[in-house]
This record gives sequence, C-alpha cells and structure tokens, in this order.
Amino acid sequence: MLLVTISRNQYEYDIHSLVKAFYPEEEVKVILKEESSCFVYGDLFLDIIFEGDLQEPDQRDLLCVTACQSGLIREIRIEQEADRTEYRNILKQMLYQVLSETTGQALPWGTLTGIRPTKIPMTLLEEGRSHSEISEHMKKTYLISDEKAALGIEIADRELQILKKINYKNGYSLYIGIPFCPTTCLYCSFTSYPIGLWKTRVEDYLQALEKEIDFVVYNMKERILDSVYIGGGTPTTLNEEQLEWLLSKLTSSFDFATVKEFTVEAGRADSISKEKLEIMKHYGVERISVNPQTMKEETLRIIGRGHSVEQVREAFYDAREAGFENINMDLILGLPGETAEDVSRTMEEIRKLSPDSLTIHSLAVKRASKLHEWIEKNGLWTLKNTNETMEIAGKAARDMGMVPYYLYRQKNMAGNFENIGYSKPDKYGLYNILIMEEKQSIMALGAGSISKVVYEDGRIERADNVKDPKLYIEQIEEMIKRKKKLFCIEI
Ligand code: SF4
Repeated sequence: MLLVTISRNQYEYDIHSLVKAFYPEEEVKVILKEESSCFVYGDLFLDIIFEGDLQEPDQRDLLCVTACQSGLIREIRIEQEADRTEYRNILKQMLYQVLSETTGQALPWGTLTGIRPTKIPMTLLEEGRSHSEISEHMKKTYLISDEKAALGIEIADRELQILKKINYKNGYSLYIGIPFCPTTCLYCSFTSYPIGLWKTRVEDYLQALEKEIDFVVYNMKERILDSVYIGGGTPTTLNEEQLEWLLSKLTSSFDFATVKEFTVEAGRADSISKEKLEIMKHYGVERISVNPQTMKEETLRIIGRGHSVEQVREAFYDAREAGFENINMDLILGLPGETAEDVSRTMEEIRKLSPDSLTIHSLAVKRASKLHEWIEKNGLWTLKNTNETMEIAGKAARDMGMVPYYLYRQKNMAGNFENIGYSKPDKYGLYNILIMEEKQSIMALGAGSISKVVYEDGRIERADNVKDPKLYIEQIEEMIKRKKKLFCIEI
C-alpha cells in the first residue's frame, strides 16, 4: 500500500488519481497527517503540505510535496491570485514531477486523470483558440506528450464539425439497456447477468421497460429525439420475438423521423442470428456492433467470450448480407498474454473484414471484475499494453481509411492509455460523441442505466436506475419518479 499524508482535507481525489496513474497495481491511501500515527514512518510514501490559506488576503500559500523514501522535495509559494483550478494544476504538476522522477516514467496524458481529456481542447476550440495555442496550453498546464496533445485536438476538432450538423442542445438521446449476456467476460464491469439464469424473468424485465418507454413517450413529446442506442449487456441475447417486440414498441411509440442514428450493440457473436439481423434491419436499425475484442482463439477462451474467431467472421458476414452498411467492431489491447504480434495478427484479420468503424480499448482492470481475481492468480505481467501495440492498432485503423473521432479514458487502464473510436467517413457513432463529450441530455432506460440532464451553463445532473434486474422490475415506479424529478416533470 502507498500511503500519502496531507496537511488538510483538499484535493484528495486528484492526488489519489495521479498516484494511482503511476502505480495502477498498488492500493493508494490518502489521509490527513494527524491520522497517520497508526502507521510507521517507513509506510509513508508521499507527504503533502498546504500551508497558509488562500482565502486570507495577506497570506501566500506554501505547497510542498516530499517523496518520503527518496527525500525528493518540491516546494513552491503560490500567488494569491491563483484560483482553485490553477492551484490544483500547480499541485498536480509538482506531484507529477516527484512521481515521474521517483519512477523514471512519463505518462502520455501527463497530469490529466479524468475520463474526458478532449473536453479541454474542445472548450478552447469553441473559444476560438488556434491549434498551436491549445497544444502549448495542454503541454504546459497538463504536461501531456506532443502526440496526445495533437490527438486530443484532432478529435475535438472533428467532433465539433460533426456536432455542427445537428441542433443537439434542443434535442435528447435515448438509451435502452438490456443487462443480459450469454456469459460473463473475464474483464466485465458493466451491468451484465448471464441470460441462462434470467431466462424466466426477461418478459417481466421487458414489461418494466415498457412502463419507462411509455413514460418517456408521453413526457418528452415536445423534445426532438436525435439518437437511439440499445446497449447493455448484449441486447441480442433477447430471443427473436422479444427483440422484435422491443424494436416494434420503440419505432411505433417515438417519432423516428428526427432520429439521426439508431444503434444496437449486438456485441457478442454468440448472440447474433440471421433472423435477429433481419428483424433489426426491418425496424430501421442502421448501426450495429459485432465485437471480437481479439481475433486470437486462445485469448477468447481465456477471457470467457464463449465464441470463436470463426463465429465473429460469420456474424459479420451475415450482418453485411442483411444489408448493414455501418458495422462497428470493438477491440481490446492488453488482454492476458497478448503480444504485439498478436495485435498485428488481429488487425490483419480485421482488415480482411473491413468494418466501418473500430473502437480500440485499452484493458481496464476493475475491482468488480473477475479479471481482478485472475491477476492475483496469474500475475500482472501477463497484461501488456504498450505504445507499440497502440500504434499498431491505430496505424491499422488509419490504413483502413479510418480517422479517430472520439476518445475517452477509464480508471486503471493498462499502460494508462485511452480508448479511441475510429471510423470511415460518415460512419462515426453520433451517440458516442454526445455521451462522451456530455453535450446532450440522455434519457436512459433499463437496469443500471444513468440518465443525465445537461444544462446550458454546462452543469450536469444525473439519476441512475438500480443495477439488479430483479430490483429494477420491482422498483420500476421509483425509477420513473427519479426521471420525473431529474427532467423536472410534474409529479
Ligand atoms: S459482452 Fe460486454 S457486457 Fe457482456 S459480459 Fe462481456 S464485457 Fe460484459
């Protein structure tokens, strides 16, 4: 465990996130200095002193970061004019320098630990700043690499061009969560329950979902629906009749004339049938995902995907045959035992299929996943995501005629990299941009989904549904009440 002491309760979350970014496999604890008496000095990793109080006009804050084991010290007096954001940036820069010198490591995203790094270049672009000004600002303030600054600006610029085409501020998007999967993948941290165990409750689940749908149809009729995304879990774990019922319910209830994108995340190849593809096509679904994660058979077995490489190919070709012209594929880098050669081979197989978009993820190890236990048994060294594999995958995507169009990060990602969505021209996922850049209100239905309202001033409020499908079914009226409150609908 890495113990960090602070002299007063301030910026604990930022400190914790940055130390964790350098030491993803360690437990990190940030506590007040006076609470550290039960630890021996040798336990201390970092000591952070905030001295003075910026609220008092004639005091200047002294900030001091000490690496306890090496004795490395960084100290600075902060100008009174520094506001909270500037103060936090200075603290993170000092902390970064100490950690970087201690580990001999540089992080590609510098001090940025949040999940939406493109928000910064996007805001600056909206303010009319030039690419070179933004790049300088990102490198100086957040210590990010040249390459990541350029990537962030490229993506933010593209997103803005795409968003110009729609009046997203007045509209909303609809998310429907189907929380069932054929089996649970080793790395999964989503709301997902094995369909085999829930078969007898799926009808009840759909009935509860119907109540939420009816509520939205009635109460949002004045708003423009811009995009519809059915995710999960794996929506195609619904059988043919259930899938048809859901799509028919949605398309007959909402005005789809305004919908610019209708996506179903088919996801797992072992849940896709020709009949389901035909049903989706019939009801106007335009964009689907067929997600291999890797095209290496042995890895698919280790991560518990429950399907083969051949099944991925079959599902993909069946989708093309059914007429889908916008197929996304998700891949993960850093999977157990995978090397750069494995990633090259996967990209070669993907190139043969020629999907329309690719989402390239860096493996994120979530405490709630079975992967966490797996690492304890097999060791962390088996998970390797490197600059090299990121470059192999990125280059292959660009060679397929794709460009990066959205980006986000997660906590505890292998190599501290990012997830990037690449697409061919006009084959991007609009919903992905809207949700990741937090540009639009999302009405989210189903177990584990999170609705959010984005206000004019950028403020965001959320309301979540319970994760457990049984509770969701039982508490559906309460889920609707939460939405009424969030969207200020009279109760
Ligand atoms: S398909 Fe996705 S949601 Fe389902 S178990 Fe695997 S990772 Fe989780």
